[in-house]
Amino acid sequence: MKKVALITGASRGIGKAVAERLDADGFKTALIYLHSEDKAKELADSLANESRIYCCDVSDGSAVNETVKEVVSDFGRIDLLVNNAGIAGQKLFTDITDSDWDKMLGTNLSSVFYFSRAVLPGMINRKEGKIINIASMWGEIGASCEVHYSAAKAGVIGLTKALAKEVAPSGITVNAVSPGVIMTDMMSSFSENDVKALTEEIPLLRTGTPADVAGCVSFLAGSDAGYITGQVISVSGGMVI
Ligand code: NAP
Repeated sequence: MKKVALITGASRGIGKAVAERLDADGFKTALIYLHSEDKAKELADSLANESRIYCCDVSDGSAVNETVKEVVSDFGRIDLLVNNAGIAGQKLFTDITDSDWDKMLGTNLSSVFYFSRAVLPGMINRKEGKIINIASMWGEIGASCEVHYSAAKAGVIGLTKALAKEVAPSGITVNAVSPGVIMTDMMSSFSENDVKALTEEIPLLRTGTPADVAGCVSFLAGSDAGYITGQVISVSGGMVI
């Protein structure tokens, strides 16, 4: 029987590459998007295995509960949850408003709580399942002018480690992938010079691709990673060692 993966933020960037890779690995996919419906539709149509799209604001707990119910009703179960949806933003710390803070934490951290909480009862009943959270190197080492983003991603790392301990006896693994500089729309606010300067700090001398991150997710989602839980795997070209 083909396994079912739910991927948030699957319409573009890293989430899209993760969906393509998991489809190639034989998963059926539930693709969560918010604004990019056409892109999500196009992706679902291009995949070999059954794939459906769902519009859901990942920062809204009730919407997440409804979406997970819908996915389970369509596919019967969720074997793998990839919490990938996220936003970034650069601001001086003292310019961050309450609403900037709430949006950043809601989209990048509360979303991981909401989806994991909604998906786990089914996994616990079956005594198997995997959760993979997309964190960020800035959650590990902190980024100037991205304190709210760094705090949210550090929260994702803490949630990953604690939840891994709690659900391991139920046969469920929880891991995080921590990307470095990956060329997606999220990097569009960086100038060519910013990217050049960042690239000079990367030991492997290149920025990452969404496929680099998807490869790590594919490994963690597969049976070779069955004895790995609570880990944060850096996909940063050596920028974080
Ligand atoms: P991206 O290209 O900007 O794509 C972001 C995705 O998240 C889109 O599919 C978007 O959906 C979705 N999304 C955003 N807010 C949402 C919401 N409230 N509800 C539902 N979906 C929402 O970003 P990316 O670079 O692929 O980033 C993916 C993940 O990797 C993020 O968690 C990011 O923090 C992390 N990351 C990225 C980098 C990097 O260098 N790119 C580095 C470290 C970590 P719609 O377009 O449909 O609205």
